[in-house]
Formats: sequence, structure tokens, C-alpha cells
Amino acid sequence: MLKEIKIGGINYHVQIVERLQDNNEAVWGYTDYKIAEIFIDAGLSSQKQDQVLMHEALHSSLHEAGLDDICNDEKIVNPLGNILYQLITENDFKGGDN
Ligand SMILES: [Zn+2]
Repeated sequence: MLKEIKIGGINYHVQIVERLQDNNEAVWGYTDYKIAEIFIDAGLSSQKQDQVLMHEALHSSLHEAGLDDICNDEKIVNPLGNILYQLITENDFKGGDN
């Protein structure tokens, strides 16, 4: 798991937290844009933690891109985050010689 992730020139710190909550509700991930912190629930499998990190990084990417009208829209972020996670983990984008 990455401890820090660069999003739009901002260093977001990643924290793994036991029994993560947002407004007293159990959540798998949560991002505080103001302090550039991403929180991930410790109870998830390591693969799910990575998938949730991609999801939270996508929220932050849209925020850093100035797309604040859609950056919290789960109908956009959820499917795109899952597709991006699969694209990046199952393809070698750093290939170089093809
Ligand atoms: Zn979300």
C-alpha cells in the first residue's frame, strides 16, 4: 500500500485506519481534500484496500482538476474507479519497448 500518492501536484498522505467511519457511518474509504489525507479501512483485504485507494484517488483527481461539481458523485467515481483499478493492475503501462 502506498503511503503517499501525488494527485494534481499535491501529495496526499494515505492512512490505514481500524473501523473507519465518516459521519458515524462505517465506510471503506474517505478523503479529506482540505488536508490532503486519504483514509482506508484496515479490515479490507490488501487488494480491496488498493481498489478503494484508486477510488479515493479518483475523487481527489476530479477535485484537483477543479471538477468539484462531480468529484463527490459516486455514480461517476465508483464505476470509473473500478475500471481504472483493473486497467492499471492488469496491464503494464510502463512497458517501454512496444
Ligand atoms: Zn466514493
